[in-house]
Order: sequence, then C-alpha cells, then structure tokens
Amino acid sequence: MTPTPKSTLPPLEGDATMPVGIMSDGSISLYVHIPFCQSKCSYCDFNSYAGLESLIEPYVGALLAEMGLWREPTQHMRVATVFLGGGTPSLLPLAEVERVMTALRQRFRLAADAEVSFEANPGTVDRPYLQGLRSLGVNRLSLGVQSFHDDELATLGRIHTAAQARDTYHTARRAGFDNVNLDLIYGLPRQTMTAWQYTVREAVALRPDHLSLYALTVEEGTPLADAVARGRLPPPDADLAADMYLWAEDALAAAGYQHYEISNWALPDRECRHNLAYWLNEPYLGLGAGAHSCFGGFRFANVKDPRRYVALVEESAKAGGRPAEGLAPFLAGLGHVAFAEQVTPARAMAETVVLGLRLVEGLPLEEFRRRFGQELMSVYGAQVEELEALGLLERGNGCLRLTARGRLLGNEAFQRFLPD
Ligand code: SF4
Repeated sequence: MTPTPKSTLPPLEGDATMPVGIMSDGSISLYVHIPFCQSKCSYCDFNSYAGLESLIEPYVGALLAEMGLWREPTQHMRVATVFLGGGTPSLLPLAEVERVMTALRQRFRLAADAEVSFEANPGTVDRPYLQGLRSLGVNRLSLGVQSFHDDELATLGRIHTAAQARDTYHTARRAGFDNVNLDLIYGLPRQTMTAWQYTVREAVALRPDHLSLYALTVEEGTPLADAVARGRLPPPDADLAADMYLWAEDALAAAGYQHYEISNWALPDRECRHNLAYWLNEPYLGLGAGAHSCFGGFRFANVKDPRRYVALVEESAKAGGRPAEGLAPFLAGLGHVAFAEQVTPARAMAETVVLGLRLVEGLPLEEFRRRFGQELMSVYGAQVEELEALGLLERGNGCLRLTARGRLLGNEAFQRFLPD
C-alpha cells in the first residue's frame, strides 16, 4: 500500500465535500515557479537560490508530477495564461523548458490563444535559445533590465550590463518575440533623478510593448539591507522615489504607453493578461516551490524549499489525490502544500476591491455587484466616502478608482477595506 504523505496543513474549514473537478468551467491562470539563479542580487528576497543547478532536472520532474495531480481538478477549466517566473527561468536548458511546455499541453486545457510569458535575465540567453522558446509556444518575454547604468546594476548585484540588456532585447526581437516587457527599478540608493530619466528614456527608445516600474524596497536579511544598516549605502529617499514615479507617469504617457496598473504600462492591447487575472481576482494555480494559488474558494501555497518540494511532490504523487472527495481533503492529502485556508466571502470581497483598485481604470462597480450580489457602496460606503474626502479615491464611468494621489498612497486606501 502506498503511504499517504504526512500533511503539514492545519485543519481546513470550509466545504470539504465540494468535488474539485466541477467547481468551475471558467478560465484559470497558471504560474510556474523556477527558483534557480546564477547568483543572488543584493536586494532580492524572492524564493530563489544560486548554486542549485544540480536540482534542475529533478525539480522539473517534480513540476511535471505536480501538474499531473492537478489534471483532474482543472479538467473543465481553460488555461488562458501561463507565466514562467522566478528565479531565472532562462537558466533552464531548452530541453527542460520543452518538458515543461509539453506537460502543460498534455495535462491542462491550454487555450489556443493562451498568453505564455517567460522571465529571462539579460546576458543569460542567445538567439538559438530565444528561437527555441518561441517554437515551444512562449509568446511573451519579460526581461529584468532594472537600469541602464552599469554602476547601478553593480549596486543591485545584477549579473549583466546595460549593453547586454540592449543586446538581449534586440536578439529577442530578431528571434520573433513581438511582445516584450522590460522591468525597471527606481529609488535606488544614490540614484539621481537625471540617472532615472536616462534609464526610462533608454527603455522607451527600445519601444518595448510593456514596462513594469518597481520602487526598490530594502528587504530585511538582504545584503542591501546590511549595507544600509552599516551606513555603506544611504537608505532609499521616499520623496525622491515618488517624484521619479510621477516623472515616469508623464514621460510614458507622452511616449504612448497606457498606465493600466500602479506599476505597469503598456502599448495598446499589450497589457499582461496573466497579471490582469490576478488584479481581477480570478482563479490561478501556482506550481513549484513556494508557489501560491487561489482556486476553488481556497488560498494555498507550496513548501518554499526546492529540495523539500521535490521530495514531497514525489510522495504526493505516489499517494495519489482523490479530487472527487472535495478540495479540502484533496489539499490536505498533498504533502507539498504547506499552507491553505478558505477564502471567506468577506475576504473575497475585500481582496477584489484592493486588487481592482490597483488598476488605473479601477474596479467596475457592476462587476462587483454581479460577483457578490451586493452593491459595493452597501458594503463599503463608509470607507469609500472617507477616502473620497481624503482625495485618494474617486468614482466615475461606473468604476471606483484611486486618484493620482491615491496611487502614491495606495496602502493607506487598501488597509481600510481589509478585515482585521
Ligand atoms: S535574478 Fe531575480 S530572482 Fe534572481 S536573485 Fe536577482 S532579483 Fe532575485
């Protein structure tokens, strides 16, 4: 008899009898986490590891096994978007990407027009690799450029130069990628407004389809936090970072980019469909070490450590889940799932508001009413009126949205909606 993996889950509350496979016949998004990096960047507290290359092959094997576990529960769902993120997915040899893509097609109902995004680090990919990705069905590339100044890249501990970022971008275009995102970071220690403006102008000159601009946060336990604590680097200047954001908003609008989410801009019809699904609070399934999911009324997350993930998924696969018995017991039987909780209706409403407010167009009030059977103002009238009086929220065109000032102070607004 195959042993049942020991569950690390607390007891789950909720509808334990709901059969997993018939919960929804709608769309779902898949996130696939690749936790390998060539070296750790100084600011990074993501679930990523340097020096674990020997685990790549067994890790991909575990991903395939995890996909097999979810085949039945998602059999009626159409996979609209896939995002391979990390970590550095471009550290996977092409043969391993092929294993992942083949299994995705075999085990899920991948839509013919699915958006398939792939994160790559400049300097880690060449033209044959990028052409290989295209031929495997990857149709959107996200490049972690971060800055067009080599001294800033060195401060961040990035493995590439600005010249390599430009080269990789052009190579991606030549390899057939017609949907490319560039990630940039602002608010770096000692970064001047002039330096940031140069980075944004250089990025715009390349004409990517999409730009993600993130404010640097100094995360505890990182080498960057240590350097700031020891006085080797100044802490980020929050006022200057806000000015950088406001300048970029104007510059990107002038260059024809639509600001569609707090940190994201796109050319027309080039919004990231995968991330839109998150902000619209639609179901997603995360595969891989530390990956989070929100699916079937539950939120859950896999164990973070890639070695434990590989070992525990193997056990889960041997034991074999029984989705027909319901999602709660199914999750409880998956040894690699480290955390799970039911999303209460109050929580689902609050999260829909908070995520929807990240969108520049805002949260459609009619969509809220359709989803929850209540008017948003009947649930959150007091909070909305208070935030409107503070100049952080506004209503118009059937949507509730953050004002320009509200986008700078988003957390102030969000915390008013979240239950204690
Ligand atoms: S490449 Fe990305 S995931 Fe890897 S260490 Fe750098 S910031 Fe972190």
